[in-house]
Amino acid sequence: MDMLNHPDLGKALTQSRSGLRDDHRRSLARFLFWVTGLSLMVFAALQMFSGYPWVSAVELVIGTLALIGVARINHTPYFERWVYGYLFTLFSFFIVLMLLPDASMAAFVWVLMMPVLAYLLLGRREGMILSVPFMLLGCAVYFVFLGGVQGLSKADFVIDFLNMVLCGSLMQVFMYMYEQRREEAEQRLIEVAQTDALTGLANRGNFQSTLIRTIAESERSSSVFALVMMDIDHFKVINDTHGHETGDYVLQEIGQCLQERLRGTDFVGRLGGEEFGLILRDVKPKAAYELIEELRTRIAARKLRFANVDLSVTATFGLAQWPEDGRTADLLFSAADQQLYRGKRAGRNQVASPTKVLSPQIKDVAAGGKG
Ligand code: GH3
Ligand code: MG
Ligand code: MG
Repeated sequence: MDMLNHPDLGKALTQSRSGLRDDHRRSLARFLFWVTGLSLMVFAALQMFSGYPWVSAVELVIGTLALIGVARINHTPYFERWVYGYLFTLFSFFIVLMLLPDASMAAFVWVLMMPVLAYLLLGRREGMILSVPFMLLGCAVYFVFLGGVQGLSKADFVIDFLNMVLCGSLMQVFMYMYEQRREEAEQRLIEVAQTDALTGLANRGNFQSTLIRTIAESERSSSVFALVMMDIDHFKVINDTHGHETGDYVLQEIGQCLQERLRGTDFVGRLGGEEFGLILRDVKPKAAYELIEELRTRIAARKLRFANVDLSVTATFGLAQWPEDGRTADLLFSAADQQLYRGKRAGRNQVASPTKVLSPQIKDVAAGGKG
């Protein structure tokens, strides 16, 4: 099971990614709304005196909407709609400005601004989908505009037009590449932040957020799940006897063993040190106990070898069932933790749950005189 492609983690990544992007984009959009709103107010006054009252009126309306957007954009659940509305109106407005009979050549610089705004606010795919048609339209208007410029030689016409096409295309390519690299770097950062470097499993923070999400999902779907905490027995002895590197190797092997055995819907993470957590979805207490009991046997039977030294380890498990043993993540964690320490106190290498205290084998050994 590839942890980074685990369905649950995939969802977490998407959420975190959109969370990051969202914050960053909201503040950018807010700034743009401010600039647009204030600029349009100034332009509206100027256009009024230049004899274009209808342009002035449109600028006034859009400027007011942009300033309303400033107040709303940080909290609105309709962020995408605001951004689409803003960009569509702005780009259309650029085109209209270019179409004015006495438009100056400077108006066409706004064509080059389109990919910058679209990619930053909408991301790679949607930014391209929105900006490319508008840029093509802008280039077409520019072509017509150049055709109407008096005294422009054919060679100058071609040069001016190619300048725009080349610069516009490069802006598209640069913005696309920038967004791609940024998204990749952001994804890598999130993966690193959610993964335990030694074992490649989910780290504690990731495990906790998955547990919280699993509780919410189980509440909605009325399903049940089990939380398991696992701690390797006498791990300090391995470190002390064979060295820290051997200890690291054991942690990696045990992480591997957990991943191999668990079902696609289960989730495993390293909570810290030699402690691991498991979430077993859609299992009743008895099935959860049997699954973990089998895991315990497997770990105990697994032959480990590092630097020509044969090793074997055992682990103790604490099991808690949602919702009986705790409804919230904290309560469930502490229930599983209590069971884990009950198992440790009772002799280690066993699965402890509120319903079953000892593994059958351990019970036999205990009855045979150890206890
Ligand atoms: P118990 O059966 O009661 O769990 O005993 P234990 O020895 O496993 O537990 P204890 O808490 O005494 O020791 C845990 C050890 O795990 C101590 C610490 O040095 C070691 N440890 C924690 N993190 C790592 C790690 O990343 N790598 C290695 N090699 N050792 C680690
Ligand atoms: Mg231990
Ligand atoms: Mg421990």
